[in-house]
Amino acid sequence: RPRVLSGIQPTSDSFHFGNYLGATRQWVDLQRDHQPFFFIADLHAITVEQDPKVLRERTLRAAAQLIAMGIDPARSAIFVQSHVPEHAQLAWVFNCLTGFGEARRMTQFKDKSAKGGEGAASVGLFTYPILQAADILLYRPHYVPVGEDQRQHLELTRDLAQRFNSRYKKTFRLPEPYILKATGKIADLQDPTSKMSKSASSPSGIIEMLDDPKVSAKKIRSAVTDSEAVVRFDPETKPGVSNLLTIYSALTGESVQALEEQYAGRMYGDLKKDLAEIVVGFVTPFRDRTLELLDDQSYLTQVLAQGAATAREVAEATLRDVYQRVGFVAPP
Ligand code: ATP
Ligand code: MG
Repeated sequence: RPRVLSGIQPTSDSFHFGNYLGATRQWVDLQRDHQPFFFIADLHAITVEQDPKVLRERTLRAAAQLIAMGIDPARSAIFVQSHVPEHAQLAWVFNCLTGFGEARRMTQFKDKSAKGGEGAASVGLFTYPILQAADILLYRPHYVPVGEDQRQHLELTRDLAQRFNSRYKKTFRLPEPYILKATGKIADLQDPTSKMSKSASSPSGIIEMLDDPKVSAKKIRSAVTDSEAVVRFDPETKPGVSNLLTIYSALTGESVQALEEQYAGRMYGDLKKDLAEIVVGFVTPFRDRTLELLDDQSYLTQVLAQGAATAREVAEATLRDVYQRVGFVAPP
């Protein structure tokens, strides 16, 4: 079975609709006929400052959410990145294969360091995409299901794989990004030209899966739209309404075109009210299940231990090949 790998950062108390519709929902689908590795990216999380206690809590919350979404620990390896030290070890090798200018071209660093200024950003944030390349290539996956914002990092990953293969010996498979056109970029509800983001969105711009459903409903009802007052999908000129249609369609399976017809001649308020109800219906059972799982920390710990064991078997073998190929003497 082809392998898939992806990760998510424990950088907030809850995943949001962008994470789910853009990425983790595909993880759930792909686990059926693939060999899946899904990890919680705590090494990535500390590229910006984290409170240690909160980070630990969020890591377990992330595990609970993945299981509540439908990731099945019996099918998928669910693990914490720092439990598999090969991620950091392989990242070092790739650090030495990446050009400084090449790393500089990564736009996510530019975006994420813009606020505090580049000088205040950590070197870890700068080399984040290189660690990400290591995360992926360790498992030699066929597909990497992610959101559109990760496309550039996936290209770097492929470049590094190819570089390693041609400099040393064919070691890595070039992984394909698995990015859905419809939901690859879910927008912020208040700033619909930006992506919904755990760390950058304002509270009213982001629908958190674990929010009180009433709060999420209110956020949908106050989403930014436009003054045309026609329900029509056009991300260029109507990013707010188009985003609502995207979410609506993704949650119900109705096509965007069918929704345009259904809401022809009606007000944005109708669309928002209906979508708010759909969202409440969707998040309520998810939230209950997550909270239930969080009550049983020993189960979560056991799932993560099993996931790390499965992951390490693969990761160790890859790193052994890499160390040998770059010319390191085998350890005694
Ligand atoms: P942060 O702001 O801390 O980077 P994030 O919201 O971007 O958090 P990540 O943990 O970095 O979340 O990303 C997890 C997955 O969710 C990735 O595959 C990413 O591409 C995807 N993703 C994140 N935001 C969106 C979005 N708005 N639309 C679609 N996919 C998204
Ligand atoms: Mg991100």
